[in-house]
Amino acid sequence: MNPRIQRAKQMMESGNNVSQFASDKFTVKSQTNPEKSYTITKTDNGLVCECPDHQTRKADCKHIKIVLQVIMKNKCYQDNTFRIMERAKLQLCKFCDSGRITKKGMRKTKDGNIQIFKCLDCQKRFSTNFGFEKMRHDESTITGALQMYYSGMSVRDIENHYEMLGITVDHSSIYDWICKYSTMASNYLNEIVPRVGNWVRADEVWVKVAGEQKYLFASMDDDTRYWLASDLADTKFQHNADKLLELTKKAIGKTPTQFITDGLPAYKKSSRKVFGKKTNHTRFIHIQGNMNNNKMERLNGEIRDREKVFRGLKKKDTPIFEGMKAYYNFTKKHGALDGKTPSEAALIQVDGKNRWKTIIQNASLYKLNQA
Ligand SMILES: [Zn+2]
Ligand SMILES: [Zn+2]
Repeated sequence: MNPRIQRAKQMMESGNNVSQFASDKFTVKSQTNPEKSYTITKTDNGLVCECPDHQTRKADCKHIKIVLQVIMKNKCYQDNTFRIMERAKLQLCKFCDSGRITKKGMRKTKDGNIQIFKCLDCQKRFSTNFGFEKMRHDESTITGALQMYYSGMSVRDIENHYEMLGITVDHSSIYDWICKYSTMASNYLNEIVPRVGNWVRADEVWVKVAGEQKYLFASMDDDTRYWLASDLADTKFQHNADKLLELTKKAIGKTPTQFITDGLPAYKKSSRKVFGKKTNHTRFIHIQGNMNNNKMERLNGEIRDREKVFRGLKKKDTPIFEGMKAYYNFTKKHGALDGKTPSEAALIQVDGKNRWKTIIQNASLYKLNQA
């Protein structure tokens, strides 16, 4: 291994040496002098570092290599916050992360033209609307539909809304967008471990899916209100809660010390089995006017408010609940959290105004890196 790459790797492994203070600015601590750090900035000529090595050689120094690795893995922490960056703003090659890219013509879509770039290192062509490349409509139209849908509008309402704005799109295409991007976003987001406490709550909400009565079993972090996991069940009393608890454990990367639920017997069995004896399981019996599990109530209310939307769902194994979870955790500001979203409270920050766009950009590149 090249000694420069080796040193970069060592620094990566030794922990928190990189922080990001703007979408296109990073600092990396010097390895020889811990008091010193260098700023790396994205410019038209790629990433530029202020260290002497880069200044003299003009090639990628170890600091730039570290930043590139951090971008690739999307593991940039600042003050313990996991940062989801606006990848398009960095203008790096989609395939090899090189900063040496050049403009190469335009591609026409229904909503306008898209800039095409060519990488001078790997020679591949790409556009920076990551995740939306082959779509006939642009990223704003698509992410706008996602946000409207999860705010409670039906796909026909959205179709009518866009018609008024002069955008022609059929409600079935809108439904396809919602399924596609909900799956893509949640596959990526479910891999990020939120910084949450040790108290978990669970409850079940009545929903109607494809004309049938179902129960959505859901779990939430007590502290940040982060919606951790859910499992759609056919019945309330016969359902086994093991899957919900397993997904919960995976989501937080640990076993909770407190588990708060209603009196449903399934939770008792599953808590013993999945969480074990060290978890203290507190059960509250629902008595009218005495809602001990009322922290769950807002989440339950959010889900119930969209009952009308779920009624139109075509099948049981729908990605809509996962999309709903992403919407709730990443875009809904919470009064009890001083106006923060649950994800912000759990130290996950999404850069940019259009959070769906930033998340989808990263989800699509994440898939690319996994391949
Ligand atoms: Zn450097
Ligand atoms: Zn390239």
